[in-house]
Amino acid sequence: TYVVTENCIACKYMDCVEVCPVDCFYEGENTLVIHPDECIDCGVCEPECPADAIRPDTEPDSERWVEFNRKYAEIW
Ligand code: SF4
Repeated sequence: TYVVTENCIACKYMDCVEVCPVDCFYEGENTLVIHPDECIDCGVCEPECPADAIRPDTEPDSERWVEFNRKYAEIW
C-alpha cells in the first residue's frame, strides 16, 4: 500500500485524489489518508503530490503511517 504522511497536513491540493483509480483516499479536516486495504499499489498518486507526502509502505518507519492511515480511513 501507499501511505499519506505528515507533509500532507494543511496541503490544499487534491491531485492525488483525482488520479486514484479506486477512490481509496479519505478526507479529514487537515489531511488525507489512504485506506491500506483498498489501495491497489498502482503508484500513480505519488508523483502527483506537490508536498511529497505520499510514499510506499516499503520505506523505513512506515508501519505507524499504515496504522494512522487505516485508523482514519475507517473513521472518515
Ligand atoms: Fe490510489 Fe494507486 Fe495511490 Fe493506492 S497507489 S492510493 S490505488 S493512486
